[in-house]
Amino acid sequence: MKKRKLQPESLMMSLGYNAHEHQGAAKCPIYQTSTFVFNSCEEGKDFFELAYGLRDKKEGEEMGMIYSRLDHPNMNILEKRLAAWDEADAGAFFSSGMAAISTSILTFVKPGDVLLFSSPVYGGTDHFIHHVLPQFNIGVVGFVKGEKEETIIERVEKSYPGRRPSMIYVETPGNPTNSIIDIEMTSRIAKYFSTKDSKCVLAVDNTFLGPVFQHPLQFGADLVIYSATKFIGGHSDVVAGACTGSDQLISQIKGMRTFFGSQLDPNSSWLLQRSLETVKVRMEAQAKSAQIIAKYLKNHPLVEKIHYLGYLENDSELKEIFDRQCLSTGSMIAFEITGGEKEAFLFLNNLKLFKLAVSLGSTESLAEHPATMTHVDVSPEDRVKLGISPSLVRLSIGLENPQDLIDQIENAFEVVKKANSSAVC
Ligand SMILES: *Cc1c(COP(=O)(O)O)cnc(C)c1O
Repeated sequence: MKKRKLQPESLMMSLGYNAHEHQGAAKCPIYQTSTFVFNSCEEGKDFFELAYGLRDKKEGEEMGMIYSRLDHPNMNILEKRLAAWDEADAGAFFSSGMAAISTSILTFVKPGDVLLFSSPVYGGTDHFIHHVLPQFNIGVVGFVKGEKEETIIERVEKSYPGRRPSMIYVETPGNPTNSIIDIEMTSRIAKYFSTKDSKCVLAVDNTFLGPVFQHPLQFGADLVIYSATKFIGGHSDVVAGACTGSDQLISQIKGMRTFFGSQLDPNSSWLLQRSLETVKVRMEAQAKSAQIIAKYLKNHPLVEKIHYLGYLENDSELKEIFDRQCLSTGSMIAFEITGGEKEAFLFLNNLKLFKLAVSLGSTESLAEHPATMTHVDVSPEDRVKLGISPSLVRLSIGLENPQDLIDQIENAFEVVKKANSSAVC
């Protein structure tokens, strides 16, 4: 009999769940309970000893449920299933992407340490790094795509001599411009800053392409982080976050999660179990549509510049990194419209079918204006440096018919064109 490993999409309907332990229910019921009943005091004692890491597991011993802030069946199954996509030992779910990010960072980065991060990053992450971490005496140093390893190392050592860089936080592709960071290169920097007793942890925000089209652990990342609100949830109806990695790192993060209370609730966990069953077909269909739409945009006279992973310059360094690291061009497109904020607003206000909303990765297409919305809090100098200009529009392509979406884009461009020509007269 052939013993080929099952692919993740084959595991999403079954992994971690045995119907016969749940009255035969084909789908895992929602465990809407805050606490779990022990069979005996002895059992309760065992569970607590394990939960607090007071002793190692005995041979064949299984940890049971105690209280839903620590663990509950819906979140537990979900964690196993996400870990399967990333080929990780373990996963942890959170009440939001920001909860996953803040809990993971504060698990490994302590007062006095330094966090090295790629820019641009998601607006909320950017705020957390620039405005929250410094309050805890954590030094922060940024770098952008294309910078050399030695330049980045030198910047850290010059900015905070003698301090310990305990985490590198990378977002790739970066929000909103799809900028690409070489994960292998950052993993070499993490190794450089690691010592025998203190590891510099490399965390990669995989929200834009994961969990289907990019697997950061294969390129030397230690942790993969997600806003599960986006592609994993995929229906704009849940806010959640996640993290995957080795047993050792994930159990440290879960320890912190217990005391921050940033775990995911049973109902949202159940919704995400449903979502993970279709994540691959959704992401593939969305990426295919995005390809068609990007091709249309690329040749449009009102499009100054397009930021789409399918249009990286051939033979460029970024193209080489993309080919090595990413399995698809994804479904995020940003572009600069000819003109400025006025033209971008006019376009967005007249875009039908697309919803004018932040967030991404959903079944419905979404459109937004990064400079005044998701990235309004990024400093004006950084906005210029990172290409978040007033004319930048970001699209997340959903599951509508791509030609219908193009028709809507065409109509919105027509309105802009008319306004432009009447301004000239
Ligand atoms: C949305 C997003 C986040 C934050 O996630 P929430 O679920 O909104 O808390 C983090 N990183 C990226 C890349 C995102 O797009």
